Amino acid sequence: MSLNFDFSEENTMLVSAVGDALRPWTGERKAELREMVNSSVFPAELWQTFAEIGLMGCLVPEQYGGTDVGLLPLALAFEKIAAMGISPNILLVTCMDSACLARNASDLIKEQYLPGIVSGQIKFCFAITEADAGTNSFNMKTQAVAEGDSYIINGSKTFISGVEVADYMLLVVRTTAREESLKTDMGQYHGLSLFVVPTDAPGIEKQPLPMGFNEGVGQYTLFFDNVEVPANQLVGDLDMGALVMFNSLNPERILAGAMCSGMSENCIGMASEYARERKVFRDTPIGAYQGIAHPLAMAKAEHEAARMMMLKAAWAYDSKWDAAKVGSLANMCKLLNADSAIHSVDVAIETLGGSAFTEEQGLLPLWNGARLLKTAPVSKEMILNFIAEWELGLPKSY
Ligand SMILES: Cc1cc2nc3c(=O)[nH]c(=O)nc-3n(C[C@H](O)[C@H](O)[C@H](O)COP(=O)(O)OP(=O)(O)OC[C@H]3O[C@@H](n4cnc5c(N)ncnc54)[C@H](O)[C@@H]3O)c2cc1C
Repeated sequence: MSLNFDFSEENTMLVSAVGDALRPWTGERKAELREMVNSSVFPAELWQTFAEIGLMGCLVPEQYGGTDVGLLPLALAFEKIAAMGISPNILLVTCMDSACLARNASDLIKEQYLPGIVSGQIKFCFAITEADAGTNSFNMKTQAVAEGDSYIINGSKTFISGVEVADYMLLVVRTTAREESLKTDMGQYHGLSLFVVPTDAPGIEKQPLPMGFNEGVGQYTLFFDNVEVPANQLVGDLDMGALVMFNSLNPERILAGAMCSGMSENCIGMASEYARERKVFRDTPIGAYQGIAHPLAMAKAEHEAARMMMLKAAWAYDSKWDAAKVGSLANMCKLLNADSAIHSVDVAIETLGGSAFTEEQGLLPLWNGARLLKTAPVSKEMILNFIAEWELGLPKSY
């Protein structure tokens, strides 16, 4: 086995392309972007920039217009975006869905959606969470019943991010009752299936879910009342959705980890710069005090370690390692990078003192963002449950 920690020219070029293209949004257009996020206005121009750099095509085969360079370069690009203080939220969902479509969908579906995703014309959201099922997604009730060449969908989903800007959703539904599916060989796949559904399909009611903070896209509860979807919009095999959806959820966890890694870099960099300059007592910068320097140094060490897990998880996904192993690494990546980001923001706040709470420094939105990523897309407790069961062979307690 050879280990090489130098990034390929391809990866370095993508990251520097992100840096160059986003510079105006962190400079002269920073206030404009902040205003758009605060008022939930979709930054269409920034979105088109993401498309021009080729971010939406990283997981899409060349025949559909993508570059198929893989998750590792995309994760590095996400890290860079977050390190520049920008949240790539809806980009994350569109990219995770593109991964699943590229690996599991029929040729028809790939032709229908992938070129539009790559060019920036089509945005996707992902809908799995239900109010009553919560973390226990296999307990979902939203059902699709076959009727002729279609499926009729009834039920509801909640906490669905970005429905107001997305053109389509990748929707996870029940196609076989849980009790029935458990009696058969496909029991472990839980009788779930995935469909591509237009967000404006007749019978879908979107109810905004007021949140305690603003992350630039809205959260919605969706109600499905006899929503008809052509059978050819099924992604992967019927009832085998649990296998299929992890081709979205694993990239999501790795990209979320990459975002956290970028947030850590941003916070540690910003705080170190401040600590080198700010003088309060005598002529000594506050960074000379170990009470300020050591927490920053610890945050840096934690960030580097968590980042290694992100790189390994992305590499394992690209190398098509066994899905359960990629799942473990993706979970560890999200867990460690979320904790690192929370710690880094906290240390940055401590370092900046009162200035940390100003709009200009932008640390409070990062605090919300980092803390959210400890809970979503999958909570820390469920990740630890997964590692305990799949890595350590410990009995399941729930
Ligand atoms: C801002 C935001 C955006 C989101 N976007 C989306 C989206 O786009 N699409 C989508 O489908 N979902 C989305 N979600 C949903 C998100 O994935 C869930 O909120 C999250 O997975 C936790 O589920 P829950 O809120 O129902 O918590 P619950 O299931 O009610 O759990 C509550 C607490 O109990 C813990 N817990 C539960 N069971 C166990 C157990 N067995 N062992 C130990 N602890 C346990 C959990 O870890 C959690 O801390 C979003 C959520 C938020 C807040």
